[in-house]
Amino acid sequence: MSIASTTWISGPVLRARPEGPFRLREAVTVGPDRLLGEVIRIARDQIVVQVYEDTSGLRPGAEVAGSGRLLSVRLGPGILGHIFDGLLRPMSAEAGAYVTAGMQEEVPASFEFRPRASLGDQLGPGSVLGDAGRDGGDDQGEAGWTQRCLVPPDCPGGEVVFMAAAGFYPEDETVCRLHDAQGKEHELAMSHHWPVRIPRPVQKRLPSDEPMLTGQRVIDCLFPIPRGGTAAVPGGFGTGKTVLLETVAKWCDADVIVYVGCGERGNELAGLLAEFLELEDPRSGRPLLERTVVIANTSNMPVSAREASIYTGITVAEYFRDQGLNVTLMADSTSRWAEALREVSGRLGELPGEAGYPAYLSSRLADFYERAARVRTLGGTVGAVTVLGAVSPPSGDFSEPVTNHTKRYVGCLWALDVHRAQARFYPAIHPLQSYSVVARNLARWWHGQDCTRWEELRRRFLTLLEEEAHLERMARIIGRDAMPEHQRLILLCAQLVNQAFLRQSAFSEIDRYATPARQAVMMRLIGRFVGGAEDLLQAGIAPEAIAAEPIFRALMRMGEEIPEGDWDRYSALDRDLTATLRRLREARDTAGVSG
Ligand code: ADP
Ligand code: MG
Repeated sequence: MSIASTTWISGPVLRARPEGPFRLREAVTVGPDRLLGEVIRIARDQIVVQVYEDTSGLRPGAEVAGSGRLLSVRLGPGILGHIFDGLLRPMSAEAGAYVTAGMQEEVPASFEFRPRASLGDQLGPGSVLGDAGRDGGDDQGEAGWTQRCLVPPDCPGGEVVFMAAAGFYPEDETVCRLHDAQGKEHELAMSHHWPVRIPRPVQKRLPSDEPMLTGQRVIDCLFPIPRGGTAAVPGGFGTGKTVLLETVAKWCDADVIVYVGCGERGNELAGLLAEFLELEDPRSGRPLLERTVVIANTSNMPVSAREASIYTGITVAEYFRDQGLNVTLMADSTSRWAEALREVSGRLGELPGEAGYPAYLSSRLADFYERAARVRTLGGTVGAVTVLGAVSPPSGDFSEPVTNHTKRYVGCLWALDVHRAQARFYPAIHPLQSYSVVARNLARWWHGQDCTRWEELRRRFLTLLEEEAHLERMARIIGRDAMPEHQRLILLCAQLVNQAFLRQSAFSEIDRYATPARQAVMMRLIGRFVGGAEDLLQAGIAPEAIAAEPIFRALMRMGEEIPEGDWDRYSALDRDLTATLRRLREARDTAGVSG
């Protein structure tokens, strides 16, 4: 391997004089502590290296040693359920501590291997060669998971000429050998390396007409995200980005969660880990942490490693996708990642663009979000990576570059509103500033879920919220009482949509998530109220008379009060609503006749 001699150091970047060839994006180690770095520029007599660890001990003259391979991570069965730094080096969950500096490859763990192919079989890239199971070292026994071991995407495949017997093996030990068409032999283990900046190949990208359910009504019903879709969550400080992403991580219907904590507070992440250990996965009854991978580059860790952590995260997500799984990745916060990009760019003396960010900010954001997709994998299964990224615009100004460029690449925007957050209206997603460009593609799925009016009700709700915004301005000027009845009714119905449907506390035992069935029932009830109240208005009954009825209060509180599965109480609410509407109507008719 080539070496180079450091000539200049500035924070996380250094320049060095090479003695031998280096590749762009090659992983290198620097100095006696073998700090991990990556070649980010190459000129004739100089390379520029970004170092992913604290460089304060480095001096000019420090040796840069090439590795001959691109900056890569080792992907294998040991990843799930663990916490890593931005370069996928294990960290201990308890301390949230940073790994010791330098490139010590961890001792590989052993896993149970069960072959699923035989001698003479032809395997292509992405084919299943076996299953890997948890090390029986702890007492998890039968309840342990299994994962697929696949032929890596960059192996041409071939005929199986050796297959290990079932048993325990270190994850990097050869368990299978293939002879390719050229007569070349390939040794495969349960784990393999993959360069983080290169998307893992797939057969093809598939359209997505199935939602990634979050359990949050405002998302699933108003601004839904499909499997393989992308969403950005911009919001000022304290508007609820972290709580929203964590809530989705807990309750969404993904098989695997990849949580990238990027430059945010370390204690938040420690809290999340503790919760994930305690919380049960509603589907398996096992701790949520077991289906989660956490990648941590919190604010107390070296800034430069943040830049890689986003790509490391999405590479891990693609690795599970390739096993035919639905993966959701959340990154909190992409703004902190962009700041790391800006810092490195500044140190290199690059010409700064908007707000000091480098001109390539936009293409780097694209590189990240474009890796989200629902795909047919090389092995022929279907898997998806869905990506949610928090954006923390300075002083909540959404016109800044990171928010702006991100909007070009995402299909959903869940814009958090500072006024809603101040009023403790959570999730503070602003219904008029948010969107989902793909909502219409998901209507069919909802209609198949016994929610045949989903598309119609969704539009109705959005229209009400738009009208409300317009009328509120007027109400502030002339006062609500001076407004005509039909406008007061719009305000009343919008209030119901807001309070009964969109508002949903992440900390309420009953309401922290809602299944599609409960969302559909609630949507229908509110739709019936709105329709019924409009009819009553036609018959001359004032909105205030309807709002005074107990049913209005009951509807307002149904999310908090009626849990999942208690369909009888929802039916009772429906009957009460019918009865109330009829009674008001009849009272009016009688009064009309006698008057
Ligand atoms: P950000 O990450 O945007 O700075 P946080 O997610 O930390 O903001 O939220 C700040 C506070 O707002 C939380 O500590 C919590 O009290 C409240 N909050 C945010 N989202 C919700 C929610 N969905 N339900 C209930 N409370 C919330
Ligand atoms: Mg936060």
